[in-house]
Amino acid sequence: MTCSCCSRRAFLGGALVSLFSSVSVLADRVHVVRKGETLFGLSRQMGIPFHDLADANHLNRKSKLQVGQRLFIPSNEALPQLTVALKKKFDRTHVKARQWKYVVVHHSATSSGTVAGMDRYHSQVRHMENGLAYHFVIGNGKGMKDGETVASRRWKKQLAGGHLASEALNEISLGICLVGNFEVSVPTAKQMQALAGLINYLLKRCHLGHSAVKTHQQINTIYTRCPGRRFPVKTLLGMVA
Ligand SMILES: [Zn+2]
Repeated sequence: MTCSCCSRRAFLGGALVSLFSSVSVLADRVHVVRKGETLFGLSRQMGIPFHDLADANHLNRKSKLQVGQRLFIPSNEALPQLTVALKKKFDRTHVKARQWKYVVVHHSATSSGTVAGMDRYHSQVRHMENGLAYHFVIGNGKGMKDGETVASRRWKKQLAGGHLASEALNEISLGICLVGNFEVSVPTAKQMQALAGLINYLLKRCHLGHSAVKTHQQINTIYTRCPGRRFPVKTLLGMVA
């Protein structure tokens, strides 16, 4: 059986082959140089090896970038990734093969929040045995740092989530909660980068494809507005592998 991950890779390969005949695909993979940017700086920022970025643009170490210059960003390496430190931390957890089928995005529906606060709420008010219902929380600068990504004990111990109405779905769904109320505001840029980096990591780690990424509303068996009508689903899907 072809796994969804492999079929996605095949699709990406096809997209790259047709890159120069498709304006929309090309537009997604072009970076317009801003003042002060350097090829070295961009390669670090995007997590792309310097030579890959230079070669894709027929540039070398001595090349100077011009403001407004269009750079081709090679392959999906341009997608947000976890920081090296977080990857190292999350890698310590052993993940059982085929345990997880979905990665589900939520909002806290509050303007501020912390892991400890949400953990307390889920333990003491909602009486959840394992506390915090999510596997990860991403802060918005109010209570936690903007874009700060924290793994809960549900990730560290690989416990089922408590974030969906169906227990069967909780068994196979990793939950990520962004602090914020996206009925009234949008996630910060740092939250979106952190979220996409985390999802790209989880898809790879759990051998999942693009279709595994869901919002709470998309997967829940009971109607919910989570993660809010202003959450940019399409933007997120464009940022994940
Ligand atoms: Zn939710």
